[in-house]
Amino acid sequence: MFLAIALSLCMALDVALGQVYPVEIINYSGPPDEFLNIVIIGDGYTDIQQDKFINDVRYTVNGFLNQKPFSDFREMINVYAISVISAETGASNNPDQLIDNYFGSSFWSYGIERLLVAWHYARITSVLNENTPFYDQGAIIVNDPRYGGSGGQFSVFTTHVQAIELFLHEFGHSFADLADEYWAGEQYAAEKTNMTRDNNPETIRWKYFLYNNGIGIYPHEESPTWYRPHQSCKMRFLGSPFCDVCSDKIENDIIAMVSGENQGLPIAFFGANKLVVDKGTEVNFYDFSINRPENWEWTFEGGTPGSSTEQHPVVTYEEAGSYSVSLKTVNSFGESLFEREMYITVNLPSDTWLIDYSDKVIIYPNPAGDYLIIDHDQVVIPSRYKIFNTLGMAVKEGIVEENIIVSGLPPGIYFIRIKVNNTFVTKKFIKE
Ligand SMILES: [Zn+2]
Repeated sequence: MFLAIALSLCMALDVALGQVYPVEIINYSGPPDEFLNIVIIGDGYTDIQQDKFINDVRYTVNGFLNQKPFSDFREMINVYAISVISAETGASNNPDQLIDNYFGSSFWSYGIERLLVAWHYARITSVLNENTPFYDQGAIIVNDPRYGGSGGQFSVFTTHVQAIELFLHEFGHSFADLADEYWAGEQYAAEKTNMTRDNNPETIRWKYFLYNNGIGIYPHEESPTWYRPHQSCKMRFLGSPFCDVCSDKIENDIIAMVSGENQGLPIAFFGANKLVVDKGTEVNFYDFSINRPENWEWTFEGGTPGSSTEQHPVVTYEEAGSYSVSLKTVNSFGESLFEREMYITVNLPSDTWLIDYSDKVIIYPNPAGDYLIIDHDQVVIPSRYKIFNTLGMAVKEGIVEENIIVSGLPPGIYFIRIKVNNTFVTKKFIKE
């Protein structure tokens, strides 16, 4: 599903500076505005654990989509994985002492060991909005084998051996707003699809399901004025199926996400499964445009091919550099252009890295205060620069001018990459 506000969001993305990450398609049914879009982000995966992340997501999603009711709807569901690098692996044991993973995942949230919460909430929404603004449900897989999860706005679960079951259960909370069918405590008691105080068979929420497939009116032993519909639903016990009441709610919520007619202008948007590659590596580009484009016109600066009319083209890059990608989509209502500058970076072989120009480009003052000056005799103007932090995340980019304002950056070590003729110079600097 794609709400109307997504239009303005997409337009804003054209100019907003945000962090782009590789996006991989795990299950593809079709354009994001026509189907349910589940996006999974990894926390506690370091740079060398990104392949593990994709493997963990594939394993978990495969198990997820093989269980009812999702198995009946897998052709209405898109699943994507966004690769985000954490400096530290796993999750913290104390929400007051987070480790240096990216989304702040921690056990012992609210004093409960297995309650795993990703505390850097703004980062989750930022990553989702920048890379998959069409998402309907976000989830965080945490690279930690211990048992834990939570089901707030975003489902959070670990790579525990029961990861699939954890994901399904937490998804029941986050996506379908289902209650636990075990007694989770008075603070979680509420009127929900699968939890009520009404025990009248004529009026109870699940009256149409009563007395089939184990559906009844079962008091919670710990608080007998509250009732659940089944004795062994997945919202109570991992490893059980969802009961009919919970399945029906999930099914209806999926169907509500599947849309029909095209409403207007296409809105172009895309992702790629790799953003930093060695020479000769294939990059998969994924069209995420909405409103049923009929034609795709891709342009790949520095790529082979340099252009394509395929929906999801595969491109290789032979020369080191940092390259823009644009996509124009067309339908009978009109056209739309989306471009990302310096989107794909092709590494130089390490033995030739920086040798020609690194001494000829001077940046000062270093340490820097409010600005950097680039002595750019060798820089072809206009040229772009990009500043990275020590995690390799881009924090600023723009056109090289006399002064580059860095007053907005937190103190620390940074790298600035500047295009010099046809190569790149990377300089380290310290922001005070
Ligand atoms: Zn249930």
